[in-house]
Amino acid sequence: MAFIIPSIASPISSLQVKLAASQVKGAHIPHDIPRLELTTFIRSIISNQEDPKPFYVLDLGVLVNLMEKWNHCLPNIRPFFAVKCNNEPAFLAAMATLGAGFDCASKAEIEAVLSHGVSPSKIVYANPCKGEYHLKHAASVGVNLATFDSMDEVTKLRRFHPKCSLLLRIAVSNDKSSWRALGTKFGALPEEVAPLLRHAHRAGSTVVGISFHVGSKASESKVYRGAIAAARAAFDVADELEMPKMHVLDIGGGFKANPLFDEIAETINDAIKDYFPESHDDLDVIAEPGRFFAETAFTMVANVMGKRVRGEKREYWISDGIYGSFNLPAYDRSSMIVSPLHHSHHLHTHNPVPATYPSTVFGPTCDSLDTVVDDCKLPELELNDFLVFHNMGAYTTSAATNFNGFNISAIPTYLTFTSANS
Ligand SMILES: *Cc1c(COP(=O)(O)O)cnc(C)c1O
Repeated sequence: MAFIIPSIASPISSLQVKLAASQVKGAHIPHDIPRLELTTFIRSIISNQEDPKPFYVLDLGVLVNLMEKWNHCLPNIRPFFAVKCNNEPAFLAAMATLGAGFDCASKAEIEAVLSHGVSPSKIVYANPCKGEYHLKHAASVGVNLATFDSMDEVTKLRRFHPKCSLLLRIAVSNDKSSWRALGTKFGALPEEVAPLLRHAHRAGSTVVGISFHVGSKASESKVYRGAIAAARAAFDVADELEMPKMHVLDIGGGFKANPLFDEIAETINDAIKDYFPESHDDLDVIAEPGRFFAETAFTMVANVMGKRVRGEKREYWISDGIYGSFNLPAYDRSSMIVSPLHHSHHLHTHNPVPATYPSTVFGPTCDSLDTVVDDCKLPELELNDFLVFHNMGAYTTSAATNFNGFNISAIPTYLTFTSANS
C-alpha cells in the first residue's frame, strides 16, 4: 500500500508520517509499518548509504506512547506542542495527527503548522513580543489567541490584530529550579497584573486567560503549584476589575518524559482542583510542552570521519557539532546518551567485551569549542564506524546554524515504529 514506509526507506515525507500516524493512533498497528528494533533499523539505513552520512531516526512508537502518557496523566489538559523545540515537518505532521495543538512564535512556525492542515484555532501565538509583520500574518490566517505581558504589546495587538483574544503571561518567581529560567525575560510581575488587565480591557481587547512558563525542564513539581496559585490570583484580579470572565489557563512547558512527570502531573491536577474548584467544567486548561514530546523520540546517528590517537587517548571527529544538532546539549548533557556502532565489516574482529579508551568527540568546524563529548569511555572506533546519540529531539536541529558551511538542515530523518512499543 502506498502509505507503507519501507524499513530501509529514503527519508520520509510528512505525508507518509501522517498516514502512518493515523494508522497507529488506535490500538491497532498494521503489520506493514516497520517494527524493527532500533539498532537493526539503523544498520539497515547505514548499509544502504552510498557514503557514510549522519541521519536522524524518529520513532513514532515513542511518540504514540508519550501522547498516551500525557493523556493518561493530564487528561484534562490539551497539549499545544512548542514548535521551537523541534520543527521537523514529519514530527509536526505526526503530532497534528495525534491531535495536538501548537505553540508558535513566528510567521514561519505558524505556516509550518498550518501546512499540515491544522486549524488555526489549534494554535496559540505564545510569543509575548510579536513583530508587526508576524502579527499581521497571524491575523490574516486566523490565529486568534496570543500572549502579552506589556502595555505596548496591547497597542500593537489593537492595531494589527484587533480580533485577537489575549492571555496575560505572568512571571513565575520561583522558577530557579528549572534549567533555563524564563522569568527575567517574560511575564508580568505581580504588581503589573492589574494595570495590564485594566489597560487591555479598556483598549477593547478580550483577555481570556492567564499563561505562564516555569522554565525548561522544571525539576520540582512545586513550581507548578506556585505558578497555578499565581494564575488564580490573576483570575481574581480580573473578577475584581469586573472584566468578562476569564476561562483559559495555559500552564506552559518545562516537562520531561521521565519518572518525575507522574509526580508533576499529580501536583498540577491537585493544584487546579484546589485553586479552580468551582470552574471545573468551564475552565479550558492547555499546556505548551516542547521537550516532553520531542526529546526521546529522536535518535541521531553520526559517522566517524576523523581519528587521532594520543597515547591512551582517542579523539574522533563527526560531521555535526555544537553549531548544529549539539548546540544546547553542550550546556545540558544530562539526557544525551552516546553508544558506538561498529561498521559491519569490523564486527567479526571485535571482542564481545571490548577495551575502552578515554575518548573525545569533536564536531566538524574549525572552532576548538566545537566538542560534542569530552572525556568519555568508548571502545576503539575506526573511520566510518558510527556513534549513536539517543534523546536528541529537543532543541537540536531547530536551533542549528550553518556556521563554517556545515548544513545541518540537510540531515535526513527516517521513520520507524519500534516493536518495543507495539
Ligand atoms: C520554549 C517554550 C515552551 C516549551 O518549553 P519546554 O521546556 O520545551 O517544554 C513553551 N512555551 C513557551 C512560551 C516557550 O517559550
